[in-house]
Amino acid sequence: MRPVMAAVVMAVSLSVSGCVSIAEHARPERLPIVDFHTHLNGDMEAKHLLALMDRAGVRTMVLMARYYANPKDAGYGSDMQAADFARTHKGRFVPFVAGQRGELGRLARWEDPESASWYLRESEDKLRSGEFFGLGEYVLYHHAYDLAGWGQLGGEVRLPADSPLMHRIAALGAKYAVPVLFHLEAEPEQTQQAVRLFEAHPETPFIWAHNCGRASAGQIRQLLGRFPRLMCDLGGMMVTSERGGYGRYWPKHTPYVHLVQADGGKVYAEMLRLFEDFSGHFLLGTDTAHTPALRSYEERIHAFRQMLSQMTPATARRIAYENAERLFASRRVQ
Ligand SMILES: [Zn+2]
Repeated sequence: MRPVMAAVVMAVSLSVSGCVSIAEHARPERLPIVDFHTHLNGDMEAKHLLALMDRAGVRTMVLMARYYANPKDAGYGSDMQAADFARTHKGRFVPFVAGQRGELGRLARWEDPESASWYLRESEDKLRSGEFFGLGEYVLYHHAYDLAGWGQLGGEVRLPADSPLMHRIAALGAKYAVPVLFHLEAEPEQTQQAVRLFEAHPETPFIWAHNCGRASAGQIRQLLGRFPRLMCDLGGMMVTSERGGYGRYWPKHTPYVHLVQADGGKVYAEMLRLFEDFSGHFLLGTDTAHTPALRSYEERIHAFRQMLSQMTPATARRIAYENAERLFASRRVQ
């Protein structure tokens, strides 16, 4: 059943400061959250993450390790660290096989998958172990940023989504029925590449990060109507008091960047209709890629609860945790 216009008739409650207040059905004690798009650096500790999750009402966190050396991060994150967190704290952490490996950064690896055969072999061994639930994040088309205050940088990345290596990764996702999560700004040529990838791998559960590359509601609606296994995560798409973040036109304003929430937390009407009509296709994620971002962890989750407050209770439950748990449960270990 299409819950036609259900969202529109729900009143948005604004506080005196103009911020959306948290509805009963979106309160932490009523609505657990799976934080689906989160990263792991070497200097993040399980007990710190758990304390933040408990305070914010987050049941489970997906960990995607970042193997990048960064002067301000104390060492690399790793898959072994993520698996160790999950083993020690059952049900709280869900490790993915990391896609952010410095060695994969060169275009040649994506054009010739044999040059990345070590990565494919290792990834399959990890999936076969039963300890990993997904593959990613693969950063394919990404605008550079400089979070100077934190001493953190993000590079300019231009890798094609329909490259031979990405096809091999997609096939692995289909074989083990695990999601393949990737970052690709939805500019026209990149969208065509993604469509070719989806057409070639109808069985792969793809997750296109950051609301399907920050595409327009109309473009996302078309893609989700055409590819039933495609999902969009809302990684970093919430608006907080911080500078930067994908909830704003950041790191640059292009005609292809579309936002979900206005300042104050109100969700744009066409996005809200999209979430209601395709409620089985969205996931939440704080996208705390750099360790200093954990300082605003609770604020990030609060912004998501503002978003969920504007949805019907059934849609809010799907997007907060049911869709994520369905994906974890469908994994095939062989
Ligand atoms: Zn990303």
